[in-house]
Amino acid sequence: MTPATIRDLLAARRQPTLSLEFYPPKDPLGFGILGGSIERMRPVRPDFVTCTYGAGGSSREFSFAAWELLARMGFTPVVAHLTCVGASRADLVAQIDRIHAAGIRNVMALRGDPPRGETEFTPAPDGLAHAVDLVALIKARHPEICCGVAGYPETHPEAPDLATDLRHLKEKLDAGADYVNTQLFFDNAAYFRFLDAARAAGIRAPILPGLMPVASPAQLDRALAFSRATAPAALRAALQTPDPAAARAAGIAWLVAQIDGLIAHGAPGIHLYILNQAKTVLDPRLAECLARWRKTSS
Ligand SMILES: Cc1cc2nc3c(=O)[nH]c(=O)nc-3n(C[C@H](O)[C@H](O)[C@H](O)COP(=O)(O)OP(=O)(O)OC[C@H]3O[C@@H](n4cnc5c(N)ncnc54)[C@H](O)[C@@H]3O)c2cc1C
Repeated sequence: MTPATIRDLLAARRQPTLSLEFYPPKDPLGFGILGGSIERMRPVRPDFVTCTYGAGGSSREFSFAAWELLARMGFTPVVAHLTCVGASRADLVAQIDRIHAAGIRNVMALRGDPPRGETEFTPAPDGLAHAVDLVALIKARHPEICCGVAGYPETHPEAPDLATDLRHLKEKLDAGADYVNTQLFFDNAAYFRFLDAARAAGIRAPILPGLMPVASPAQLDRALAFSRATAPAALRAALQTPDPAAARAAGIAWLVAQIDGLIAHGAPGIHLYILNQAKTVLDPRLAECLARWRKTSS
């Protein structure tokens, strides 16, 4: 039986987990396309899936609909992302209860980014200022919900330094969070440094590395802009070709090398920011890489 929570899944795992991150469509018509992508990804058999909430100004109602679609299509467990943006404590309680009532037992507890055009995060009146407060609220309301929290191998852009950021990460775990999912990174060295520093700071929870496939310099720039991660010059150079197929192949080759390196060094799983793209996860070179450490038939 599939464990209901990511906490149980990570504790029981015999091999690293594979998780895929989706985002909700921008309009109702997009649900047909999303359903088609999910259907094509069926052979990949991810251990769990996640779906964003309010990211890039997307509709929160559509997040609920996307979580339901993923669950209906058998892509479980589903991790529902939740943010503090524009929500009072009462709004958040209502959302948490609604998630719980929908049978979802995994929440990625996030603060969220400032709305477009604003540079500083301002909590809503009677809202929550940090993800740690959301973790505490979820755990007080429904202790059985498993909470993931965000970690930043290259340090959160608002944090003065890594040590401070890790102190706040530890606070989220001390408040009851169960595991960490990292922001995307393109250089494994950043993850390994972060992991060592986190362990030295007393963080024991599993830290799932987050990776994003990129298939062009423009895609790389978009990923860097929203994540504020950095990219090695070698990746940019490899993507810099007028042949889109060659750029795509270079991006997949980079991703495969990252995955192989992370698995070889004992990562608890791989989280792929796949941007709803079936084409990427079905790429034979990626499939072969995943098959090296996954027995999807068991
Ligand atoms: C895996 C992942 C998934 C994401 N999914 C979404 C999504 O679905 N929707 C969306 O809108 N965004 C999403 N984001 C983006 C995220 O909302 C932003 O990165 C946001 O800027 C910070 O969120 P957080 O949960 O890390 O915040 P926090 O943990 O609150 O940290 C934010 C900043 O405040 C500092 N800090 C934390 N606690 C305290 C404290 N008690 N006192 C003082 N400073 C503190 C931290 O060091 C950090 O600099 C995701 C990010 C990741 C890595």
